[in-house]
Amino acid sequence: MNTKHYDLIAIGGGSGGLAVAEKAAQLGRKVAIIESHRLGGTCVNNGCVPKKVMWYAANLAHAVDDAGDFGITAKRGMTDWSRLVSGRESYIRNINDYWNGHVEDNNIDRIFGHARFVGDKTIEVDGRHYSADHIAIATGGKPIVPPVPGAELGITSDGFFELDEMPEKVAIVGGGYIGVELSGVLRALGSEVTIIALEDRIMELFDPMISEVLSSEMTRQGIRVQTGFQVTELSKTDEGIIVSSGDERKIAGFDHVLWAVGRSPNTATLNLEACGVEMLGNGMIPVDDYQNTNVSGIYALGDITGKVALTPVAIAAGRKLAERLFDGKHDHKVDYDNIPSVVFSHPPIGTVGITEDQARERYGDGITVYQSDFTSMRHALKADGQATAMKLVCAGADEKIVGIHIIGDNSDEMLQGFAVALNMGATKADFDSTMAIHPTSAEELVTMKVANDTQLQHHAIDDGLEWLEAS
Ligand SMILES: Cc1cc2nc3c(=O)[nH]c(=O)nc-3n(C[C@H](O)[C@H](O)[C@H](O)COP(=O)(O)OP(=O)(O)OC[C@H]3O[C@@H](n4cnc5c(N)ncnc54)[C@H](O)[C@@H]3O)c2cc1C
Repeated sequence: MNTKHYDLIAIGGGSGGLAVAEKAAQLGRKVAIIESHRLGGTCVNNGCVPKKVMWYAANLAHAVDDAGDFGITAKRGMTDWSRLVSGRESYIRNINDYWNGHVEDNNIDRIFGHARFVGDKTIEVDGRHYSADHIAIATGGKPIVPPVPGAELGITSDGFFELDEMPEKVAIVGGGYIGVELSGVLRALGSEVTIIALEDRIMELFDPMISEVLSSEMTRQGIRVQTGFQVTELSKTDEGIIVSSGDERKIAGFDHVLWAVGRSPNTATLNLEACGVEMLGNGMIPVDDYQNTNVSGIYALGDITGKVALTPVAIAAGRKLAERLFDGKHDHKVDYDNIPSVVFSHPPIGTVGITEDQARERYGDGITVYQSDFTSMRHALKADGQATAMKLVCAGADEKIVGIHIIGDNSDEMLQGFAVALNMGATKADFDSTMAIHPTSAEELVTMKVANDTQLQHHAIDDGLEWLEAS
C-alpha cells in the first residue's frame, strides 16, 4: 500500500492541531491535518464560541430586565430560541469556512476521517496510510456521562448546542465552569434552572470568595443551587425526569438534565499501542515541558495532556512546538504558570495566579490580602444590584501580586491587562502608583486600601462620592 509522507501530521483540527499545522506550514514544511469533523474543534463548534454567543444573548436579556431602572421602557417577551441558534450556527459556519480556506491557502493537506495508528509513525484513515517525521496528537476531549442508571436521559454540553427548543425546567449537574456558565445562560433566557454540585461549593477550585459571590448571585437570579449532592440515578415519570442522590434525596420535574461533570480525552480509539505512546489510566497522554511523549517524534497537545484545558493554551503549545521543531527555537515551550482564566458566568469571573489558600500554603504568614466588594454603577440604580468582588493576594515584604480574583460585570475583559502586570512581577505599590480610570469597576484594583481584613470591605455604591471625597 502507498504511504504518503509528510514533515508533520497533526491529528485533530482543533485549537492545538490547527496551530501546530499552520505554523509548520508557514515555516515551509509539508503538513497534513487529519480531522473527523469540522475544522475548529471543540472551541469553535461546541465550546467557547457558541457558548459565548449564548452568553451575549443572556447579557442582553439582563440588560432589558434592568432597562427600566434607567428610564428606558423595554419589555422582554419569550426568547426566540431558533433565531438565536440559527444566528449562532451561521457565525460558526463562517469560522469553519475561514479555517477551510486558511488550511488550503497554507498548502496544508486536509484529510477527512478518523485517524488511528497502525505502526511506529504510520496512521491509517479510511484504509489509506500516512506517515510523518513528526506527529502531533491533538484530539481533544468529550463530555463525561457518568455510569449511573438512567444517565442516557441526560444530555451534555454537546447536546445543549443541539437543542432546537429552550428547556423549560432543567437540572445542570456539575458545579464547574461549564455547569455555572450554562446555568446562567439558561436562567437569563427564561428556563427554570437547578444546578447540582457534588462539592460543598460551586467552582470549588476557585478562591472561596468567588464561589460565595457567584452562589449568592445565582440564587438572586432565581437559580436553585444544590450543593453536596451526588447524583446516583436519573429516572423518568409522566412529570419529568427525577434526579436522585445516594442518600435518598430526589429533585423532580425536569424536562432536561444536563451533565457537566468533566471531560475525558479522545485517545481510546487512536490505537496508541501500535506506536508505543504511553497513556495514563484516565486516557491522558503524559508529556514533558516540550510536549514530547515517550516516543521520539510523537507529541501531544491541548486537552489530552491533562494540563490546563483552554484554547489559548493548546494554541500556544502548538505554535511553540512547530517553532521548536522547524525554526531552531530549541527552548520554546509553554509556561504553564499564571495562566489567566475567565468563566463566563453571570456575573463573569476572572482569575490569575494563586488563591489565598494556596498562597498561605506557599508563603505561610508572609502574605497580604486586599479584598473589596461593591455594587458597580451599572447596577447601582437597582435596589438589590448585582455584586462585584475583588481580591488581591500579595506575597513578601514587597507585596508582589501573586493572585488576582474578580467577579462582577466586565471581569472577563478586565483581567487580561492585569494578567500582564502579574506576569511581569508587579507589586501592590505598582498597582497603587497606576492612575485609576474613573468611574470604572477596574479602578478598584488599583485603589484597594485595607489589608488582611477578613470582612469584605464595603465600598460606597456611589463611587462618584468616594472620588469627590478623595479629590
Ligand atoms: C462548553 C465548553 C466551553 C468552553 N469554553 C472555553 C472558553 O471560554 N475559553 C477557552 O479557552 N476554552 C474553552 N473551552 C475549552 C476549549 O474548547 C478546549 O480547551 C480546546 O478546544 C482544546 O483544544 P484541543 O486542540 O486540545 O482539542 P479540540 O479543540 O477538542 O480539537 C480536537 C479535534 O480532534 C478531532 N479528533 C478527535 N479524535 C480524532 C481522530 N482519531 N481522528 C481525527 N480527528 C480526531 C475532534 O473532532 C476535534 O475536532 C470550552 C470547552 C467546552 C466543552
